Amino acid sequence: THNPHAAVVEVENLAYAYSRQEPVLQEISFTLNPGDRVALMGATGSGKSTLLENLIGLKQPQAGKITINGIPVEPKNLPQVRRQIGFSFQDANDQLFMPTILEDITFGPRNYGMSQAKASDRARQLLADFGLESYANRSAHELSGGQRRLAALASILALDPTILILDEPTNGLDPAWRRHLAQVLLNLPVQVILIASHDLHWLGRVTQRALVLSNGRIQIDSN
Ligand code: ATP
Ligand code: MG
Repeated sequence: THNPHAAVVEVENLAYAYSRQEPVLQEISFTLNPGDRVALMGATGSGKSTLLENLIGLKQPQAGKITINGIPVEPKNLPQVRRQIGFSFQDANDQLFMPTILEDITFGPRNYGMSQAKASDRARQLLADFGLESYANRSAHELSGGQRRLAALASILALDPTILILDEPTNGLDPAWRRHLAQVLLNLPVQVILIASHDLHWLGRVTQRALVLSNGRIQIDSN
């Protein structure tokens, strides 16, 4: 069993380049420990989304090593790694693909073996929490951008992740929903939260450490 005080996310000397292009990320190293709530900041195009997608194994780094709770992020370990992580894409459409949003939210828990009845109950509760109960049987394409964002967040919270990695989670949300989301995140019993965002004021409410990417490197780690 894993030491509860050990690093949750460890990144060592990671480098990533899109094919035949200059590296987007170089010599990236950092450690996220239990209790860390971390902002990932940096200009448009600085590599935040690329880094997050490396962390969950959606992209393979050219160099370096990533471990999640001691497990190397490698193709053979991905099911085990992803089971611990709630990841929301910058574009909410990338994670809403079922015929209805009720199914989108039940998909993950069903995939990990939860019964249909239990998964639907949980999904209906989450839809209500996010003000989407009357949209349960609509497809994500029939929702507004902000409603899609809320549905996408509900779909990852349905997994009860121990690690939460969010890419621009406030996109499309009005101030009231931003405040509500901050409160939800502050009350979640997760080990680690890592959030990429340009919404610095909002990040200041939900995180206590910042990583800043620039020129492919982490220029600041406020830890
Ligand atoms: P934003 O704040 O706009 O979300 P970001 O920090 O998330 O930006 P990334 O999406 O990681 O930035 O992109 C980093 C760099 O990689 C950019 O210069 C971008 O043009 C490039 N890039 C992203 N996706 C691809 C791709 N599929 N193929 C080639 N280059 C890409
Ligand atoms: Mg991005």
